Amino acid sequence: MSISRQVRDLVRRKANFACEFCGVTETDAGGELTIDHFQPKVKGGTDSLGNLIYCCNRCNLYKLDYFPASADGPVLWNPGQEPFSTHFIELDDGRLHPLTPTGAFTINRLRLNRQPLIAYRLRNQQRKEDNRLLAQYREMLRLQRELNNQLSALAEQQQQLLEEQQLLLRLLLG
Ligand SMILES: [Zn+2]
Repeated sequence: MSISRQVRDLVRRKANFACEFCGVTETDAGGELTIDHFQPKVKGGTDSLGNLIYCCNRCNLYKLDYFPASADGPVLWNPGQEPFSTHFIELDDGRLHPLTPTGAFTINRLRLNRQPLIAYRLRNQQRKEDNRLLAQYREMLRLQRELNNQLSALAEQQQQLLEEQQLLLRLLLG
């Protein structure tokens, strides 16, 4: 049985329209991603929402129908159950570093340090940095405008004072 449009959209929305394993978005991929059964159907998995992962083609390809044969086998990260930060940290050079055996196994199995993904993360890091700088620059411009306004208000007050002073002088010398 194929997954209905309605369920597919639920999964997409839950995943924020991005691969739950590697983070590549539909916008980046130029189209919809695929739905992965975390526990593959050939290994007893169902179509229930809890078993569906939004997944890019690459991650899907590398995951294949992986599922541990026994409870003590290596465990793949289930993004539907645990946050990214439990198992991975993103380094400044764009690579993922595992924090747990599950993290290490997942990086290996899904090739999460594949070159295009590293480039993708670096680009996102750069974009974040650019946005931070831009926000700082905008704030600086705003402060400068405020300062200019204050300065012109001060100049106006000074002008008024001068005029009053001149008036007084004229009266005194009158
Ligand atoms: Zn992916």
